[in-house]
Amino acid sequence: MSVLIFIDQADGQIKKSAHEVLSYGAAVAKQLNTTAEALVLGTVSDDLSTLGKYGVSKVHHATNDVFNHIDAQLFTKVIAEVAVNNNASVIVYSQNHTGKAIAGRLSAKLKAGLVSGAVALPDTSNGFVVKKSVFSAKAYANVSVNSAIKIITVNPNSFSVVTGNGVAEVNTINITDANPSVKVTAVNKVSGEISLTEAEIVVSGGRGLKGPENWGIVEDLAKTLHAATACSRPVADTNWRPHHEHVGQTGIQIAPNLYIAIGISGAIQHLAGVNRSKVIVVINKDPEAPFFKAADYGIVGDAFEVVPQLTAEIKKLKGIA
Ligand SMILES: Cc1cc2nc3c(=O)[nH]c(=O)nc-3n(C[C@H](O)[C@H](O)[C@H](O)COP(=O)(O)OP(=O)(O)OC[C@H]3O[C@@H](n4cnc5c(N)ncnc54)[C@H](O)[C@@H]3O)c2cc1C
Repeated sequence: MSVLIFIDQADGQIKKSAHEVLSYGAAVAKQLNTTAEALVLGTVSDDLSTLGKYGVSKVHHATNDVFNHIDAQLFTKVIAEVAVNNNASVIVYSQNHTGKAIAGRLSAKLKAGLVSGAVALPDTSNGFVVKKSVFSAKAYANVSVNSAIKIITVNPNSFSVVTGNGVAEVNTINITDANPSVKVTAVNKVSGEISLTEAEIVVSGGRGLKGPENWGIVEDLAKTLHAATACSRPVADTNWRPHHEHVGQTGIQIAPNLYIAIGISGAIQHLAGVNRSKVIVVINKDPEAPFFKAADYGIVGDAFEVVPQLTAEIKKLKGIA
């Protein structure tokens, strides 16, 4: 019996979000009195033995370069094989794009009960019960899993990263029948931007900014804070900003440490994508804007006055000219 943690890499580097699932999986293993092992797919430049510091004793590394592109069918096949070969009773990974694409397939393949979007460690005092968020994080459900193999996908930013002094053994595996059913012929990446899903700070703008020509104040604040930029749906729908910045129920769901919402009313569909942020700061000229109810800090004021002043003060604090 073991806990297998599947972790993502991008461009050969382990994603920061992986540290959280590693820590979570290691804590589950501790609860079950067993070992935690990780699985990495594709070409990686990072030293995988260092992942031991998050509590895993072994890292299985399938090095075939075909895994450098996400292929949910192929990933499912390999994760299932490694899980069965290593007698994994719990499989853990992140509730991100890849995790969501794999979850249903892996659950069906292994006949494993799946808890998607876990926000806490399992309660093993009476069975195996996992707390997950439901209805766009408006409520929680405690889900009891009774299958022999259990799958947990962890909501980003739900669990603290825990580090120690461990060093992991790296087990390199070559999958001989890694035949993808789809072939990636080209990848066009947006370059020079901070990934919205990985960003610790996100600065987001809404219709209150009046037009795309005014986004300079959002970008300047984002640059000063080393943050990603986001926007509300109507802003993307009217092509003020690209669609990959749209957050909310029908856009990307994020959970940064800090979310700064500028000129966004705080409609329920917008909140559905951002209300798991650790700290929310709202800047809006309307004191009755619904977003203030979800905010940790609020500034009632005109964005065109407040944001440049805020940026200037942060620059001063950071010693940026
Ligand atoms: C099925 C469905 C799905 C949806 N999915 C999403 C989604 O995923 N994401 C999403 O964002 N929306 C979504 N929506 C739309 C959502 O309901 C809202 O219409 C939208 O979020 C409003 O965007 P907004 O806050 O930018 O604009 P508005 O509602 O127009 O709000 C603009 C805000 O800016 C403030 N403001 C104006 N001028 C200034 C100023 N100078 N300084 C400071 N503040 C100012 C105003 O007081 C106001 O609060 C969805 C709607 C539906 C029906």
